[in-house]
Amino acid sequence: MSIPTLFDWFAGMTLAQWVAFSLAGNSMILGASAMLCACVARRCRERPLFAHQQPITRGDVVLAVVATLLNSLVAVVGWLLWQRGWVQITHPAWWRSAVDVVIFLIAMDLGMYVFHRLAHHPWIYPWLHARHHTHVSVNAISLFVLHPFEVLGFGALMLSVMMLVPLSGTAVLAYLTLNVLFGTLGHAGVEPFPEWWSRNVLLREIGSSSFHAGHHQHPASNFGFYTKIRDRLLGTLK
Ligand SMILES: [Zn+2]
Ligand SMILES: [Zn+2]
Repeated sequence: MSIPTLFDWFAGMTLAQWVAFSLAGNSMILGASAMLCACVARRCRERPLFAHQQPITRGDVVLAVVATLLNSLVAVVGWLLWQRGWVQITHPAWWRSAVDVVIFLIAMDLGMYVFHRLAHHPWIYPWLHARHHTHVSVNAISLFVLHPFEVLGFGALMLSVMMLVPLSGTAVLAYLTLNVLFGTLGHAGVEPFPEWWSRNVLLREIGSSSFHAGHHQHPASNFGFYTKIRDRLLGTLK
C-alpha cells in the first residue's frame, strides 16, 4: 500500500473506526517500545548506563496505560483537525518528504527543549515532571511514565506544528517512528550506539541513550531529546 493510499484509507474511516484504530495502534506502540527496550538492554548489556534497573511498579503500569489512552486521544484530535482542514497533509516528491522530516524534527526538538526546561522550574517540577524523575535509573516503560499533562502537552505541541506547517504524510509517519525510537533508546539503560559515533562531529550531536540517561542521573542537564545542539549552545550539556 502506498502512503497516499494509506492516508486515503485513514480519511475514509468513521470517527468510531479511527478511535478504535488509534487505541489499537497506540497499544501496539507501547508493547513494541517495551519489547525493543528489553531486547536492546539484553543485547547491549555489556555497555550499561546505570548500576541497577528501575523496578516496574503498579503505578508505572497505570501511568503507561493512561499515556497510551491520551496518545490515542491526541491521534483522534489530529484526525479531526485534518478532516476539518486545520491540518494539511501533502504527498510531495521523496526529497521534499525528507526535508519535511528535518523540519518536523527541528521544530519539535526546539519546542520540547523549551517545555522540558520549563517543566524543571521549581514551581512546575513537583506536580508535573517529578514523577518521571522518580526513575533515577530506567525500565522498559519509563518513556510512558509521565504526568497526563506532559502527554497532552507533547501532543498539543506536535499538533500545533502540524497546523502551522503543511507536512508530507511520509514525513509525519517517519517522525512518529523516529520519536518512539529516540524515546525508547533514551530509556533503554544501555548505549547501543557505537563508540565511534561520539567522535564524529555530526553524529555526536544526535541525542544518544547515554545523553538522556545523563538527564535521569543529573536532572539539571541534558534537556534535549533528538539532538544535543540546544544543550551545547545553552550550556546545559553534561
Ligand atoms: Zn526520561
Ligand atoms: Zn526532566
